Amino acid sequence: MSRGPGKDRRRKKRDLAGEAFAEGMRLMKTNPALAAVEFDVCRQEECPLAPRDGLVAVDSDGTLHAHPDRLAEPAAWAWALAHAVLHLGFGHVPAVKGDRVQPDRFDLAARCVVVNRFLLGFTVGETPEHLPASYPDGDEE
Ligand SMILES: [Zn+2]
Repeated sequence: MSRGPGKDRRRKKRDLAGEAFAEGMRLMKTNPALAAVEFDVCRQEECPLAPRDGLVAVDSDGTLHAHPDRLAEPAAWAWALAHAVLHLGFGHVPAVKGDRVQPDRFDLAARCVVVNRFLLGFTVGETPEHLPASYPDGDEE
Protein backbone atom coordinates (compact mmCIF):
# COMPACT_ATOMS: atom_id res chain seq x y z
CA MET A 1 0.00 0.00 0.00
CA SER A 2 1.47 3.33 -0.98
CA ARG A 3 1.14 6.47 0.99
CA GLY A 4 -0.68 8.90 -1.19
CA PRO A 5 -1.11 12.55 -0.40
CA GLY A 6 -2.70 12.31 3.03
CA LYS A 7 -5.33 14.95 2.69
CA ASP A 8 -6.81 13.63 -0.54
CA ARG A 9 -6.92 10.12 0.80
CA ARG A 10 -8.71 11.19 3.92
CA ARG A 11 -11.21 13.22 2.00
CA LYS A 12 -11.97 10.29 -0.24
CA LYS A 13 -12.46 8.02 2.77
CA ARG A 14 -14.76 10.57 4.34
CA ASP A 15 -16.92 10.66 1.28
CA LEU A 16 -17.23 6.89 1.21
CA ALA A 17 -18.26 6.91 4.86
CA GLY A 18 -20.80 9.62 4.13
CA GLU A 19 -22.24 7.75 1.18
CA ALA A 20 -22.59 4.54 3.19
CA PHE A 21 -24.26 6.52 5.97
CA ALA A 22 -26.68 8.15 3.53
CA GLU A 23 -27.54 4.82 1.97
CA GLY A 24 -28.09 3.30 5.42
CA MET A 25 -30.42 6.19 6.24
CA ARG A 26 -32.32 5.61 3.02
CA LEU A 27 -32.66 1.88 3.76
CA MET A 28 -33.89 2.57 7.27
CA LYS A 29 -36.51 5.00 5.99
CA THR A 30 -37.95 2.48 3.56
CA ASN A 31 -39.70 1.17 6.66
CA PRO A 32 -42.77 3.40 7.07
CA ALA A 33 -42.94 2.95 10.86
CA LEU A 34 -39.36 4.10 11.23
CA ALA A 35 -39.74 6.85 8.65
CA ALA A 36 -42.62 8.26 10.72
CA VAL A 37 -40.40 9.01 13.71
CA GLU A 38 -39.06 12.54 13.78
CA PHE A 39 -35.42 13.11 14.53
CA ASP A 40 -32.46 15.27 13.66
CA VAL A 41 -29.10 14.04 12.53
CA CYS A 42 -25.70 15.30 13.58
CA ARG A 43 -22.56 14.19 11.79
CA GLN A 44 -20.29 16.99 12.90
CA GLU A 45 -16.70 16.01 13.12
CA GLU A 46 -16.20 17.66 16.51
CA CYS A 47 -19.49 16.56 18.04
CA PRO A 48 -18.79 15.54 21.66
CA LEU A 49 -21.91 13.36 21.73
CA ALA A 50 -21.02 11.17 18.78
CA PRO A 51 -19.90 7.70 19.83
CA ARG A 52 -16.25 6.80 19.43
CA ASP A 53 -16.81 3.04 19.43
CA GLY A 54 -20.27 2.62 17.98
CA LEU A 55 -22.08 4.08 15.02
CA VAL A 56 -24.75 6.29 16.48
CA ALA A 57 -25.95 7.69 19.81
CA VAL A 58 -29.35 9.21 20.46
CA ASP A 59 -30.01 12.07 22.87
CA SER A 60 -33.14 13.35 24.56
CA ASP A 61 -33.46 16.22 22.11
CA GLY A 62 -34.27 13.66 19.44
CA THR A 63 -30.94 13.98 17.70
CA LEU A 64 -29.02 11.03 16.33
CA HIS A 65 -25.31 11.69 16.68
CA ALA A 66 -23.61 9.57 14.06
CA HIS A 67 -19.94 8.75 14.03
CA PRO A 68 -18.67 11.33 11.53
CA ASP A 69 -16.29 9.24 9.49
CA ARG A 70 -16.62 5.59 10.38
CA LEU A 71 -16.79 3.41 7.33
CA ALA A 72 -19.57 0.87 7.81
CA GLU A 73 -21.80 -1.10 5.49
CA PRO A 74 -25.08 0.65 4.66
CA ALA A 75 -26.90 -2.35 6.17
CA ALA A 76 -25.04 -1.87 9.43
CA TRP A 77 -25.94 1.82 9.44
CA ALA A 78 -29.55 0.99 8.69
CA TRP A 79 -29.78 -1.35 11.68
CA ALA A 80 -28.00 1.05 14.03
CA LEU A 81 -30.14 3.98 12.91
CA ALA A 82 -33.29 1.88 13.29
CA HIS A 83 -32.22 0.96 16.81
CA ALA A 84 -31.69 4.61 17.75
CA VAL A 85 -34.93 5.73 16.09
CA LEU A 86 -36.88 3.06 17.97
CA HIS A 87 -35.53 4.33 21.28
CA LEU A 88 -37.08 7.66 20.31
CA GLY A 89 -40.27 6.02 19.07
CA PHE A 90 -40.66 4.06 22.31
CA GLY A 91 -40.15 7.18 24.41
CA HIS A 92 -36.97 5.86 26.00
CA VAL A 93 -35.23 9.20 25.81
CA PRO A 94 -37.83 11.75 26.93
CA ALA A 95 -36.93 15.39 26.83
CA VAL A 96 -36.41 16.63 30.37
CA LYS A 97 -36.57 20.12 31.73
CA GLY A 98 -34.28 20.93 34.62
CA ASP A 99 -32.23 18.27 36.33
CA ARG A 100 -31.90 15.16 34.35
CA VAL A 101 -31.38 11.79 35.92
CA GLN A 102 -29.49 9.43 33.68
CA PRO A 103 -30.89 5.91 33.65
CA ASP A 104 -28.60 3.30 35.16
CA ARG A 105 -27.00 0.66 32.98
CA PHE A 106 -29.64 -1.93 33.86
CA ASP A 107 -32.35 0.37 32.62
CA LEU A 108 -30.35 1.09 29.49
CA ALA A 109 -29.82 -2.61 28.83
CA ALA A 110 -33.52 -3.35 29.38
CA ARG A 111 -34.46 -0.66 26.87
CA CYS A 112 -32.04 -2.01 24.31
CA VAL A 113 -33.52 -5.48 24.79
CA VAL A 114 -36.98 -4.17 24.01
CA VAL A 115 -35.70 -2.38 20.92
CA ASN A 116 -33.69 -5.33 19.66
CA ARG A 117 -36.57 -7.74 20.24
CA PHE A 118 -38.76 -5.44 18.18
CA LEU A 119 -36.14 -5.30 15.44
CA LEU A 120 -36.14 -9.10 15.17
CA GLY A 121 -39.55 -8.77 13.55
CA PHE A 122 -38.33 -6.13 11.11
CA THR A 123 -36.32 -6.40 7.98
CA VAL A 124 -34.08 -3.42 8.21
CA GLY A 125 -30.42 -3.61 7.44
CA GLU A 126 -28.37 -6.31 9.04
CA THR A 127 -28.43 -7.33 12.69
CA PRO A 128 -24.95 -7.28 14.24
CA GLU A 129 -23.65 -10.81 14.51
CA HIS A 130 -22.86 -10.69 18.20
CA LEU A 131 -26.46 -10.10 19.24
CA PRO A 132 -28.61 -12.96 20.55
CA ALA A 133 -31.26 -14.55 18.33
CA SER A 134 -33.99 -14.04 20.93
CA TYR A 135 -34.76 -11.95 24.01
CA PRO A 136 -36.73 -12.32 27.23
CA ASP A 137 -40.42 -11.39 27.11
CA GLY A 138 -41.90 -8.56 29.08
CA ASP A 139 -41.56 -4.83 29.17
CA GLU A 140 -38.65 -2.68 30.27
CA GLU A 141 -39.51 -3.00 33.98
ZN1 LIG B 1 -30.15 0.72 22.56
